[in-house]
Amino acid sequence: MKDLSKSEIWLVTGSQHLYGEEVLTSVASHSRELAAGLDKSEFVPVQVVFKSVVTTAGQITEVCQQANSAHSCIGVVVWMHTFSPAKMWIRGLQILNKPLAHLHTQYHTEIPWESIDMDFMNENQSAHGDREFGFITSRLRIPRKVVVGHWKQPSAQQQLGTWARVAAGWAALQNTRVARIGDNMRQVAVTEGDKVAAQARFGFEVNGYGLGDVVKHVKDINQSQVTQLVEEYHQRYHMPSDSRHQESVKEAARIELGLRSFLEAGEFQAFTDTFENLYGLKQLPGIAVQRLMADGFGFGAEGDWKTAALLRAIKVMDQGLPGGSSFMEDYTYDFNPQRPLVLGAHMLEICPSIARGKPSVEVHPLGIGGKEDPARLVFDSDAGPAINVSLIDLGHRFRLVANEVEVKQPSHELPRLPVARVLWAPQPGLEVAAHCWILAGGAHHTVFSKAITMEFLEDFAEIAGVELVIIDKDTRTRDLKQQLRWNEAYYQLAERG
Ligand code: MN
Repeated sequence: MKDLSKSEIWLVTGSQHLYGEEVLTSVASHSRELAAGLDKSEFVPVQVVFKSVVTTAGQITEVCQQANSAHSCIGVVVWMHTFSPAKMWIRGLQILNKPLAHLHTQYHTEIPWESIDMDFMNENQSAHGDREFGFITSRLRIPRKVVVGHWKQPSAQQQLGTWARVAAGWAALQNTRVARIGDNMRQVAVTEGDKVAAQARFGFEVNGYGLGDVVKHVKDINQSQVTQLVEEYHQRYHMPSDSRHQESVKEAARIELGLRSFLEAGEFQAFTDTFENLYGLKQLPGIAVQRLMADGFGFGAEGDWKTAALLRAIKVMDQGLPGGSSFMEDYTYDFNPQRPLVLGAHMLEICPSIARGKPSVEVHPLGIGGKEDPARLVFDSDAGPAINVSLIDLGHRFRLVANEVEVKQPSHELPRLPVARVLWAPQPGLEVAAHCWILAGGAHHTVFSKAITMEFLEDFAEIAGVELVIIDKDTRTRDLKQQLRWNEAYYQLAERG
């Protein structure tokens, strides 16, 4: 995965010639200082590069063209230090195809009560200069993130840092190749969709591969590679002592090596499989998929290419953040009225980036698929806030459905459930959350993340131009039902579907 610190966001400062050279020199020097300050911020993981103070329509158009063609540039941050008549911005904003953030800040923190004079007022006009820019971006219906606050303060830096991470995820998605291995679980609806529309909207491509393509790589793995990987398992996980199980673990290691080799050779960043189509593999890939996810690959089970691509994007965004992100499925409920909960898991494929403590490698039969007993990592997850997000294809457009949840420690042992699992309380409560999720058509598969917040998804939806249905502590079923109806009309009218 590309290191976030190699990516750049460009600061472009708007002004005009009305104020004279002296003011423009000062504006440039303040901008340089501001960019350096943001660049050093612990909340901003990418490089912040000051590009220029722009004072004409020609300069604005040129810097937008440069941003479009610079590979290292993942987004543009604009700030109006002084007033910058916004008709100058029309052409540039119309051609800009990188994510845009509008930083509404000012150079000074507090009003300098004693010294403030008309020269100061002339030079520091962002309080109204940024409103002129806000008008033109709204007038042109340009998607962007607006960040308000003083640039030295954590709140503004955090908001900008979140947007920069999302912009990095977006940039990665433009070059993401998803391998759909063995097509779809038969008859399942939500994992299907329009791959051409998805590529046009989000940038990632999805192509199908037969199991034989993977099996070829598995067969090419030699014994010493298997021995070495099993040794790594021994160092990192609790291992089974039963000798028959150890044979299964060796086979699982061979599948991991083969699958990894297939993905690397094809330059894939995400993949799907399905238990109904495992021809030539002895086990359903369990530990293989789990460890590949932990290394940053996106994954969706049963052919779920939308969740696989979304997980990949979120893995790019969450680099270096505490927590982790995984493929997930709502499995079963606890309708205990005192503490209603959801038990999330999958047959095997949960990412150990969300694990509490050292996972155990276990081998158990799988009720479906008709293959040998697969090896998998088993673990629980720490308590704390998390989100679940699903990407669905509504036929004429896409929708993201997201729910804020609180992970709980299990109050009981689960001695006979040999899969990684997470227990959570959805906001605002199980009944409302599940009701709204179902009304919105959210999938049973999700990306579960303890690393990112709803703000990431808001920024992502804005950049992608797709609907985001949020279910959180303020959600009311009645209001959400109306929101879905209004949004249906809005996206038809806005032709952004
Ligand atoms: Mn599933």
